[in-house]
Amino acid sequence: MSQSVLVVGGGPAGLSAAKSLASIGQNVTLVEKEEILGGAPILSGYAKLVPSGEWASEAIGRMVRSAENSKSIKVHTSTKVTELTGEPGNFSTKLSNGTEVSVSSVILATGFTHFDSVNKPEWGFGSHPDVVTTTQVEQMISSGKGVHCPSDGRKPDRVAILLCVGSRDRQIGREWCSKICCTVSANLAMEIREELPKCSVYIYYMDIRTFGLYEGQYYWRSQEEFKVKYIKARIAEVTFDGKRVLLKGEDTLVKRPISIPFDLVVHAIGMDPNIENQDISRVFGVELEPHGFIQRAPAYDSIAGTSRAGVYVAGAAVGPETIDDSIAQGQAAAMAALGMATNAA
Ligand SMILES: Cc1cc2nc3c(=O)[nH]c(=O)nc-3n(C[C@H](O)[C@H](O)[C@H](O)COP(=O)(O)OP(=O)(O)OC[C@H]3O[C@@H](n4cnc5c(N)ncnc54)[C@H](O)[C@@H]3O)c2cc1C
Ligand code: SF4
Repeated sequence: MSQSVLVVGGGPAGLSAAKSLASIGQNVTLVEKEEILGGAPILSGYAKLVPSGEWASEAIGRMVRSAENSKSIKVHTSTKVTELTGEPGNFSTKLSNGTEVSVSSVILATGFTHFDSVNKPEWGFGSHPDVVTTTQVEQMISSGKGVHCPSDGRKPDRVAILLCVGSRDRQIGREWCSKICCTVSANLAMEIREELPKCSVYIYYMDIRTFGLYEGQYYWRSQEEFKVKYIKARIAEVTFDGKRVLLKGEDTLVKRPISIPFDLVVHAIGMDPNIENQDISRVFGVELEPHGFIQRAPAYDSIAGTSRAGVYVAGAAVGPETIDDSIAQGQAAAMAALGMATNAA
């Protein structure tokens, strides 16, 4: 098993694929475009993860250290793949750092891009500093500063979390559900209540999708134990009344207009296709699905496959995924790639 498997992307999916391969002695070339490994949970400074409750820096940090310390994994950070030629079992690849590597197969674990809330301007992001995103609140918590209003640093008395920002929104070309943001928001709401017991936290939603076992653990627990309030609403705009941020829209259960002041409004942002997917599609010769994520092979017996033989895919590169699922898909892609590596040996 001397020939390497190329893993592109050092987030949860790529780290899991690399670790699985290394654990049975398979050589891996791991290429990450950023300076550090860890993917979105590390790069965006997530706080405590759903559902483990572990700090992202610890849980994903462990995966990073395991890859960095492995003798079978050669890590290239601040690097991209510029060319992939050859056949399954015998590819040749060029990296932007000047390295050329011959690899048996490729695993794309290139992940997603966070939705940029400026693409939803009527909801106030960019117009007032106290309209923030879930990632910003995660960073406030993980940095130890705690939840605060960026405008003047004060602790908020009233927080609104708006769900489905950049998801399930055909007007801005994003019809998919980002899968994890309801649960992440319920978790964040509980963390805010824990830090600031006097702060009222409201979640404004279209539907709640705390799927599977998360319903009890997050949706009901946040209401019953932490007194988080859920309001079914259609939000029209977020403005500023000179003192506080104003949420305007309609409470769709009682069918009444609402105009409510808050200290802090949080956008629960969704998961967009990796902004570089056109380039990735060109370099690796793989097709994208209509929304712009990497197209996964349709058959159950080749779940990690792409449109190009010998090139596999895992994690949020194929669409919104949780960390658990990204890790599992990384392992599945490793198995598929291993088959190719073993045949080539
Ligand atoms: C606000 C928010 C909070 C979340 N919290 C949770 C949570 O608590 N629990 C949970 O299960 N899920 C959570 N998620 C989802 C979680 O972020 C994803 O499941 C996870 O990051 C997917 O891992 P990945 O490795 O597939 O992709 P990513 O984490 O996106 O990693 C991809 C990696 O590939 C690199 N890369 C990209 N393009 C290239 C390229 N061309 N060349 C080389 N490298 C490249 C990137 O720099 C990155 O390091 C959250 C999502 C959001 C939006
Ligand atoms: S998980 Fe919830 S917040 Fe996220 S897109 Fe789906 S319904 Fe909206």
